[in-house]
Amino acid sequence: MPSQKNDNASTTPHRKVRLYGRTDSAEAYELRDFLNRSVVQFDWVELTPGKDWAKQLGLPQLTDAQLPIVELPSGERLFRATVHDVAKHFGWIAQPQRSEYDLSIYGAGPAGLSAAVYGASEGLSTVLVEKEAVGGQAGTSSLIENYLGFPRGVSGAELAERARQQAVKFGAEILLLREGISAEFKNERIHVKTNECGEIIARANICATGVEYRRLNLPNEDRLLNRGVYYGAGAGEAQMCGGDHLFVVGGGNSAGQAVMNFSRYAAKVTMLIRGTSLSATLSHYLIDRITTARNVEVLYHTEVIGLDGESSLHQITIRNNQDGNEKTFGANRVFICIGGIPNTEWAKAVGIRRDSADYLVTGPDLLAQGNRPECWTRPRDPFYLETSVPGCFAAGDVRHNSVKRVASAVGEGAMAVAFVHRYLDEIQ
Ligand SMILES: Cc1cc2nc3c(=O)[nH]c(=O)nc-3n(C[C@H](O)[C@H](O)[C@H](O)COP(=O)(O)OP(=O)(O)OC[C@H]3O[C@@H](n4cnc5c(N)ncnc54)[C@H](O)[C@@H]3O)c2cc1C
Repeated sequence: MPSQKNDNASTTPHRKVRLYGRTDSAEAYELRDFLNRSVVQFDWVELTPGKDWAKQLGLPQLTDAQLPIVELPSGERLFRATVHDVAKHFGWIAQPQRSEYDLSIYGAGPAGLSAAVYGASEGLSTVLVEKEAVGGQAGTSSLIENYLGFPRGVSGAELAERARQQAVKFGAEILLLREGISAEFKNERIHVKTNECGEIIARANICATGVEYRRLNLPNEDRLLNRGVYYGAGAGEAQMCGGDHLFVVGGGNSAGQAVMNFSRYAAKVTMLIRGTSLSATLSHYLIDRITTARNVEVLYHTEVIGLDGESSLHQITIRNNQDGNEKTFGANRVFICIGGIPNTEWAKAVGIRRDSADYLVTGPDLLAQGNRPECWTRPRDPFYLETSVPGCFAAGDVRHNSVKRVASAVGEGAMAVAFVHRYLDEIQ
């Protein structure tokens, strides 16, 4: 779903959503990102200096405090718009319909969406809770080329939107912009406290909360976040980068995809990796493209050590870890794709087993020399994707030793539902 830059603002109602804002606005970036990931067609209108935008928009005056502005297809305008406002206007903010579900799923990436499709299609009352946009990490991919059945590739947002429709068709409830905050297990139910929609109770649960991008942990990083410093592949931003020199940090497939996507629009893309080669971390098909692309350079043994700018990023400083040389470049966009940290803080509080990197341990990995963990309460071994709490399963990237692929996350989501049935039969 390509968004487009558009300088021709008008006061007449418009078919598509229009988003007006400044390029260095973090709030405008968050809206663009959300709309892109939600497959909403929109035009981005950059409020360039030197033009009478108030007049263009038919307003008596226009101040920064009113930005960003979202103009809905009806012509209605939302000033100082947030993701929540937009989702509300599209009718995407819902309350749980039931007091209790057979299955609650947290995280609507590929694993959670797959679990919702299989759970709901197999007759389980199913609720899927997602704190951001549907699609998870996959939803931020410009082109997934290794997912079965899509020989020409598919954008992550489109794949996720299809899965969302499929889950809804089978009757799954999807609660967007809701976050599972803490959990309690009692009377063979999981009670999850959420933001804004109270407690959700279910007989079984699948945690599919995936991972979040790791940070560089540099001074200024938080201040410049979404103001030139972005986490992830920025699939929707590529078209806005015409003529720029962009930097992508990381050597994995997500970074590689981002590099190739940006290289179609940017003057130059520099990929910064710490390792000595791409082959250890990147799929073969991407290595070929990156090393032959005319406007892509790869800097090995390299680390970002500085991010600078006032209201937005203006320069980055890098260091070569072999010779210690440091270099500073003018830069207005750097995309950081350096692997993830699992979203499992909630599990810590309820004593669910995690590994040393905080991924959820499941099934046979819970057994030590064939022995069940002390906390385990059933007269059987944990099912394959079951965590150390019976009836609570994990699927996808959040799981210890998972494969970190769309296909495996989808497979695990489906598989977890099969084990949910077995567990529910047990507690009948
Ligand atoms: C840019 C990019 C490109 C990629 N390209 C490919 C590719 O081409 N092929 C491939 O096979 N793999 C690719 N991957 C990897 C693939 O996307 C992941 O392996 C996959 O998305 C994992 O799915 P998941 O459902 O386990 O987790 P995620 O996709 O991480 O989804 C987890 C979801 O849980 C939500 N969440 C987190 N905490 C909570 C909470 N407390 N409450 C509610 N919701 C919560 C998050 O917002 C997120 O939406 C790519 C990844 C990235 C980042």
